[in-house]
Amino acid sequence: MIDIPPAPHRLRLDGEALCHNWRALDRMSGTAATGAAVKADGYGLGAVEVARRLAAVGCRDFFVSTWAEAAALAPLCLPVAVLHGVREEDMDIALSGIAKPVLNTAGQIARWRQAGGGVCDVMVDTGMNRLGVAPEEVGAGLLDGLALDTLHSHLACADEPESAHNERQRAAFSSLRGRTTARRMSLANSAGTALGEPYHFDLVRPGLALYGGEPCSAFAGRLRQVAALEAQVLQRRRVGAGETVGYNAKWTAPAGTAVAIINIGYADGYFRAFSNCGHAWFRDAQLQVVGRVSMDLVALSAATIPSLQEGDWVVLDFEIPIASRVSRISQYELLTSLGARLQRRWNI
Ligand SMILES: *Cc1c(COP(=O)(O)O)cnc(C)c1O
Repeated sequence: MIDIPPAPHRLRLDGEALCHNWRALDRMSGTAATGAAVKADGYGLGAVEVARRLAAVGCRDFFVSTWAEAAALAPLCLPVAVLHGVREEDMDIALSGIAKPVLNTAGQIARWRQAGGGVCDVMVDTGMNRLGVAPEEVGAGLLDGLALDTLHSHLACADEPESAHNERQRAAFSSLRGRTTARRMSLANSAGTALGEPYHFDLVRPGLALYGGEPCSAFAGRLRQVAALEAQVLQRRRVGAGETVGYNAKWTAPAGTAVAIINIGYADGYFRAFSNCGHAWFRDAQLQVVGRVSMDLVALSAATIPSLQEGDWVVLDFEIPIASRVSRISQYELLTSLGARLQRRWNI
């Protein structure tokens, strides 16, 4: 067997920062428990590695979307809830007990009841019109007799603290208190946690902020960056005055200069939106992305850094809130698009 060499691009992941962010949210949520949304492979960082670390600091509620995601976490034996509930074809794995479903429709509830499924959660829609049963259905007894652990709802506009939607949804959810046998109630995602105590109920379900995303200004200065994107220089080259770099010649050298071509591109989640506006660092020197980001390659202006050579590693500017502003791509999309071929390396 030939050893596969390390990839020329990697995601450095800071386990201390991840745990710091969870603790910050846990403090914000007061007496409510703090869970973790680890769907979409832990927002691109790696669900197993994220969940393992958060369990070690006290997280006891993990949320994924699908049963395949729950199965990936099963070796950790953690309490996992599957947000999209149960289709017929999910029933075997759901009844195996690796996770509990969050039931979203009358059909899912009937299916779970009929199979004699045990403990479950239910999602009620309080105005987002995305997923969940209606409050009126709850009032009419749809959940009676279920072994209901947590009643959930989800905020549509939590990242807009001034939106009147928030209070309307909170009040609609609150009016269900005592109307079901649920042991707990849960409404807030990351941004909802920042809306204050009335939004915390018994459990909050942050995702984005755990990974260093800032859904609203309330998080400024409170979170640490978890992921750093790094790539290796593949070639250093001279570009003459008036010559162009990259596809469609979107950058022209104003004078003779040097360019470093690095081993990363939009297939890794470093999107074309960073063309001519992204940045990277080599030690404490900043380099600018010049020309279009390719699928697997990016060009950096290296004129002022003669020491930057083939094989050197550079760090791309990928601080989530800033990268989102620069690229105009949502923080969620930046994280969840981080490519599968990036080598993920945790410090602890
Ligand atoms: C994804 C998700 C969350 C986490 O949301 P963030 O905005 O990432 O904090 C919480 N609850 C539900 C139902 C979700 O789908």
